[in-house]
Amino acid sequence: MNEYIYLDNAATTPLDPVVLAAMTPYFTERFFNPSSRYGPAQNNKRVLDSARESVARILNARPNEIIFTSGGSESDNLALKGVAYARRARNPKLNHIITTSIEHHAVLYTAKNLEEHGFEVTYLPVDREGRVSASQVAAAIRPETALISVMLANNEVGTIQPITEIGAIARKAGIPFHTDAVQAAGALPLDVEALQVDLLSISAHKFYGPKGVGALYIRRGIPFEPQIQGGEQERNRRAGTENLPEIIGLVAALTLAYRDMTDNNRRLTELRDKLIAEVLENVPGAILNGAHPPQRLPSNANFCFEGVNGETILLELENRGILCSSGSACAAGSSDPSHVLMAMGYEEELAHTAVRLTLGKHTTPAEIERVIKALPEVIALLRE
Ligand SMILES: *Cc1c(COP(=O)(O)O)cnc(C)c1O
Repeated sequence: MNEYIYLDNAATTPLDPVVLAAMTPYFTERFFNPSSRYGPAQNNKRVLDSARESVARILNARPNEIIFTSGGSESDNLALKGVAYARRARNPKLNHIITTSIEHHAVLYTAKNLEEHGFEVTYLPVDREGRVSASQVAAAIRPETALISVMLANNEVGTIQPITEIGAIARKAGIPFHTDAVQAAGALPLDVEALQVDLLSISAHKFYGPKGVGALYIRRGIPFEPQIQGGEQERNRRAGTENLPEIIGLVAALTLAYRDMTDNNRRLTELRDKLIAEVLENVPGAILNGAHPPQRLPSNANFCFEGVNGETILLELENRGILCSSGSACAAGSSDPSHVLMAMGYEEELAHTAVRLTLGKHTTPAEIERVIKALPEVIALLRE
């Protein structure tokens, strides 16, 4: 871990050894299928039930409102397709969906897919800091609106959305409201009552859990059409033998994340604020992308460096042992500018200069010092 400085925690986080230890027995001696009848399998069934209760407690939900999935992308797909198809099946007029133009592609491309299946989608614009307002959502609502989906915090620029206000508007209009909380989990409270959301997605590998497991909260009574048919798991809402080792990993990681949230946030905010202040002061023409704290995730710093290509900056930083990304990991490798920065009104040329640095619980003050020293050097070198 020490040969490089890892500042891409929004892309994924390292598995916590405590989490790995909790998972391990369920890969090996406790491999039983929770649906089998004999004692050791029924034991696993109880472990699964208790895992569900733990997630429900952190979300202030009921256990039977939690579905385990294969990750954030699946949770987002299930939320949008599951509700959109179920509502339209009951009332063919309900063919409209509201979302934003800065969602993760797991939501954006699912919305595009629903467009191909006869839905109309409104992609709300955002302001220069990447924020959508509750009044924009209110103005977009139509009698045909089947679903609203707005992310809790953005994965590229870290901007936090006014979810509670949007939730109040959705509830008043009687429209199911989904939030992609994948990036917010572990950093912000996920109380579904306080947030006034009906569906909420999380993914374990963004909070020091394993990859390939997530959860979707679906409020009781919300129309939902399963997208994976087969066995009766997850109360007939998502078929497939439960991935118990990973589910145990998700719960262990989520529990740790919420136990330590306040301390982690305080430490990360301090380090991140120092990074932002020093970069803005020492790199001529550096721009902070996204909202100012506290409307911003504690772990996120995202800059544009006018006149220097973001991908080139990444290479130079990697040469100095610093790993970070431009925009999001998922869009990396494509030469398109960030859809988030473009939606925020950036010129394409400026959007191409973006660099995202996302801190994690292992980030040290010494590492941030090294980055503060390296960044001005790298930018000066590349501007020569
Ligand atoms: C990472 C991420 C996802 C996708 O989650 P996976 O578990 O990697 O499929 C969805 N939404 C947001 C905001 C994310 O950051």
